[in-house]
Amino acid sequence: MRIGDVTVQPLLDGVLPMPPSVLYPDVSMSTWRSLPGTIGEDGLLPVPFGGFLATDEQGNRVVFDLGGGVAPQLVPGGDPPAVRELLPIQLEKLGCPLDSVTDVVLSHLHIDHVGWASTDGRPVFPGARHHIHAEDWKHFVDERADEAVRSKVSPLGDTAALWDGDSVSLFGWLRLVHAPGHTPGSSVAVIESQGQSLALVGDLFHHPAALDHPDWRCGFDWDAELGAATRAHWAHQLRAAHTPLVGPHFPDLTAVTLR
Ligand SMILES: [Zn+2]
Repeated sequence: MRIGDVTVQPLLDGVLPMPPSVLYPDVSMSTWRSLPGTIGEDGLLPVPFGGFLATDEQGNRVVFDLGGGVAPQLVPGGDPPAVRELLPIQLEKLGCPLDSVTDVVLSHLHIDHVGWASTDGRPVFPGARHHIHAEDWKHFVDERADEAVRSKVSPLGDTAALWDGDSVSLFGWLRLVHAPGHTPGSSVAVIESQGQSLALVGDLFHHPAALDHPDWRCGFDWDAELGAATRAHWAHQLRAAHTPLVGPHFPDLTAVTLR
């Protein structure tokens, strides 16, 4: 994907087929069956997880979300992923050594987004600033909402760059906007360059089928009511602006435009 002067490439970490009710507990199987190209014959939804690499002409290399990491257990009590691509290998293939990454943006601190934050207690991207909303750091690290997440992100140490409030601009082309509900510090990354734009929405939407249904409750939402309100707001905004969007669980990590 080319957004003005910025190139965005998908980084697949793996694919985990799961019952769609894990993501959307209130949506029936008959609804999924009526949506072509979603669930397979086995009734499972193949859910990718991964991230994106954005590069600009100034040499900045920004990775958005970090997949599930080594041997992840992404669904409590669940199977390991059926497909593993491994995000660091994808980066190397794109000619981007791990120590050349300048920035990591974490949309939120769920385990399937912080898997490659650290291994063996050391940051995987030692030269990168890791941008995390302070509300998520407080919830997951200080208040210990999830010990697996805490042990993944605690080793970030001084490389963790916490931001607060409604939004922050990291570069002329990159703005992070607080979008709470899925977690307290969830955020959307908006890329804008030369009149073109793209929104990296994290887990605001897990599947494009949900774009027309912001009221679909996600099984992993921290605050379901706030989550629904935030989704409705963003769906409206992105539709009005004709801004394409993509998240790290979208099929083939491919962007869609709301009509
Ligand atoms: Zn997720």
